[in-house]
Amino acid sequence: MTAAAGETHGEGKSFTSLVADRGDASQPASPVVIEELALANHILFREGVVDGFGHVSVRHDKRPDRFLLARNMAPALVSADDIVEFDFDGNPVNAKGRTIYLERFIHAEVFRARPDVMSVVHSHSPAVVPFSVVKSSPLRPICHMSGFLGEEVPNFEIRDHAGDESDLLITNSRLGAALARTLGGCNCALMRGHGSTVVAPTLKEAVFRAVYTEVNARLQSEALRLGTPDYLTAGEARTSAANIASQINRAWDFWRMRAEGKL
Ligand code: MN
Repeated sequence: MTAAAGETHGEGKSFTSLVADRGDASQPASPVVIEELALANHILFREGVVDGFGHVSVRHDKRPDRFLLARNMAPALVSADDIVEFDFDGNPVNAKGRTIYLERFIHAEVFRARPDVMSVVHSHSPAVVPFSVVKSSPLRPICHMSGFLGEEVPNFEIRDHAGDESDLLITNSRLGAALARTLGGCNCALMRGHGSTVVAPTLKEAVFRAVYTEVNARLQSEALRLGTPDYLTAGEARTSAANIASQINRAWDFWRMRAEGKL
């Protein structure tokens, strides 16, 4: 059964989809990778990036043409048993009848387009959304923690690809590929009236970037209320991003403890 034939989604009736497995499970991903992905879900919830919605994926450690993503559920509730393997057409390998995320095509097409990307976070984190709808005020790096945003963050306009009556969701490969083109070589793309997609060369760094994309949006909104912000230059963004990348574990270890309720 193809993804299209198996979809239960249609006319905005459902936020989930039930799709038959493609039936050729590969060598299982490392349990360490799967556990880390489950933890990433919990951290993103605890740090205010995802709520009942949003998702995080990681490229399969033994099959670079596959990726791992939870089944359709709230990120805070994800455990290792909920992680499903997918191909780049958005077909599940081992969903076994469980519903999957409608917007899995975001992950599939970004992994297809960007061999350097090992992890993708898609969220509707609340401070970021305003920057997606006020096009005269683009999201830009306000401090050294968010230099990975680069000079300016691209903003995906779904009307250019799905007209003006869409549900704004990335529900097929064509829209996923269009989003991946807008992302280009950047680390973050806004999605107008919807949220953002953040990518990184590791899972931990993708979580870090997702958290600090939200922090940056909050700080930038505050700064804009005071006056005209002086943003990082392209060089400052590049240098600070390279520096902070070596400190990711410091944040991760703390976030892990907090997500596990130990702080
Ligand atoms: Mn979404």
